[in-house]
Amino acid sequence: MSLTMAVPATGASASATEWDARRTALIEATGIVKIYPTVSGEAVLALDQVNLSVQDGEFVCLVGPSGCGKSTLLRLLAGLDRADAGHFSLAGRPIDGPSSEVGVVFQQATLLPWFTIWQNVTLPVRVGGRTLKAREAAIRELIRIAGLQGFENKYPYELSGGMQQRVAIMRALACDPKLLLLDEPFGSLDALTREKMNAELQRIWLASRKTVVLITHSIDEAVFLGDRVVVMSPRPGRIIRELVVNLPRPRLPAETFGHPEHIALAREIRGLLEGGDAP
Ligand code: ADP
Repeated sequence: MSLTMAVPATGASASATEWDARRTALIEATGIVKIYPTVSGEAVLALDQVNLSVQDGEFVCLVGPSGCGKSTLLRLLAGLDRADAGHFSLAGRPIDGPSSEVGVVFQQATLLPWFTIWQNVTLPVRVGGRTLKAREAAIRELIRIAGLQGFENKYPYELSGGMQQRVAIMRALACDPKLLLLDEPFGSLDALTREKMNAELQRIWLASRKTVVLITHSIDEAVFLGDRVVVMSPRPGRIIRELVVNLPRPRLPAETFGHPEHIALAREIRGLLEGGDAP
């Protein structure tokens, strides 16, 4: 499918359901419940009846107050934890553990300091027992797309925080996953670098044609990057609204942040998070 986007012709008011009907679901999550036991014996209901459908090639941003279950949902999607109820599927198959079809990036780049950039990026392929030869050309192309060409033989400490996060994203893409999950990947970067990274991530996404689910605390980041912004309630996490972002791509920070649709959507999301307009 094309990533130059099957976005709705109408404005932000176009319903997510209407749009979804025209595309193929890559992820289907239905009736997800997650309960954590605690040392005091009290159970924490982290997610309650979460239903989420993500279409093939779509960029979905998850926003919600701290502690509402965003990371929990991402870990479940990554197969790193199990739900207490509900069903997850990826491309029609149940998600029952980590898979090379899913790449994950966390807030910290977590690169291995004694490995070069090339060794870090290619690690999942080598660990997965696949021959590097088959993926080498594609990984070199990813490195070029990420603007990291020439840095292959450097070590992580020689790179800036933003570059290290780009390496982490490339590492997550190394096995050619269907799905890329990003948990607040730019949270530790300064505001300007973060803005640049948003534009970089959009470029990488447009070139790599992956399905992306991104958690962010930044409403502006969510509207800038997302085809759709999914808003969660305070704990227990539930999905309270899904908003389609109809801004044209590629989006440029200078134009997009002042665009009336960006401003209107960001205001609507802020209202939902402040509890002013939740259904
Ligand atoms: P978010 O990513 O939205 O900040 P989390 O998914 O990290 O939220 O956490 C959701 C809720 O579940 C929080 O109240 C958190 O304290 C609780 N929680 C998360 N992980 C655990 C755990 N391993 N054990 C107990 N409680 C947890």
